Amino acid sequence: MDIIDESKAIIQPLNSEWYNGVAKIDMLRLDLLHPVISGNKWYKLKHNIRYAISSGFNTILTFGGGYSNHLVATAAATNVFNVRSIGIVRGNYELITPTLQKCVALGMQLLFVSKDDYSRKEETNLLRDLGLRFDDLFIIPEGGANEQGRVGAKEIADLIPSSYTHICVSGGTGTTLIGLRNGLPVSQQILGFIPMKGGKYLDEYISKHLPLEKNTNKQLFDEWHFGGFGKWNDRLIEFMNDFYQVNSIPLDIVYTGKMMYGLKELLKNGFFSEQDTILCVHTGGLQGNASISNKLCYIS
Ligand SMILES: *Cc1c(COP(=O)(O)O)cnc(C)c1O
Repeated sequence: MDIIDESKAIIQPLNSEWYNGVAKIDMLRLDLLHPVISGNKWYKLKHNIRYAISSGFNTILTFGGGYSNHLVATAAATNVFNVRSIGIVRGNYELITPTLQKCVALGMQLLFVSKDDYSRKEETNLLRDLGLRFDDLFIIPEGGANEQGRVGAKEIADLIPSSYTHICVSGGTGTTLIGLRNGLPVSQQILGFIPMKGGKYLDEYISKHLPLEKNTNKQLFDEWHFGGFGKWNDRLIEFMNDFYQVNSIPLDIVYTGKMMYGLKELLKNGFFSEQDTILCVHTGGLQGNASISNKLCYIS
C-alpha cells in the first residue's frame, strides 16, 4: 500500500542567522514525501483510500477549489492505486488552473459547480443532480476532514520528538492540527497559523474533535492572512525568497509562507523565551506555487 516513503520526512534545522531569541528552530519536511501527494495530504488520504479499496468502492469523489492541494493529491494517489476519481470543483474556470490541469492529467474527472451549489455540497441532492450514482462511490470531504483523515494526521506526531516546546503548523480545515494535538504530549504547545480572514473560527471545529484532556495548550493566529485565503502581496513573496536564500527551504504561497511570516513576527514581538525550541511542520503544498513561479527564486 505504501507508495510514499515516510522516512523521507527529515527534520532540518533552520539557519541560526534567520532568527534570534530562542534556542532553536527546526522544520519537519513533509514536503519531501512526494511532489504532489505531499505534506499532510498523504496522511489525511492514506486511511481513506485504504478503507475505500478494502470496502470495494471503485470510485473516490472529493471536493476543492481551483488551487486545491487536496484535490490534486487525491488525483495523484487514486491514480497510483488505480481507483477512479471524481473532483467536484467550486466555480467555473474560464482558464483551467495549473492545479486542475494536473488533476485531469492524473485521470481525475472534474465536475464544475457554481459557488452556490458548492456550498450545499454536503447534501446528496447536489451529487444526484450531477447524475452521480452512489453504489460504488466513496466520498472524502473537502480537505480530507473526516475521521480517517484525523487518524492519519495523528501519525505525523510520531515524527516529532517530545523535546520541542512549541510546534507550529498551518491550518485550513484544522484536521492536521487536531491529529497533532491528539498525538503529541499536552505539554507541547501547538501554534496554529490560519491563512484565512477571521480564521480563528476553526477553533470550534478543532475543539469539537479533541477529547477534553487534549483540548488545551493550543493557540490559533489569523492575523497573517495577507487579504484572505490564497491572497498574497510582494512583501510575502520577498519574505519567501529571503527564507529560501537563508535556509534552502521552499515555502508555498498559501500556507507555509504565511506561517513562517507569522512566526517571524512572533519572534520579533518577544512571544517566545530564550530556552524555547520550535518545530515547524512543513505541510507541503508546493505544487500551488506554479501559478506564481516567475516571482520565486526557486522552482517548485
Ligand atoms: C491542505 C494544507 C494545509 C491545511 O491542512 P488542514 O489539515 O486542512 O488544516 C496546510 N498546509 C498545506 C501546505 C496544505 O496543503
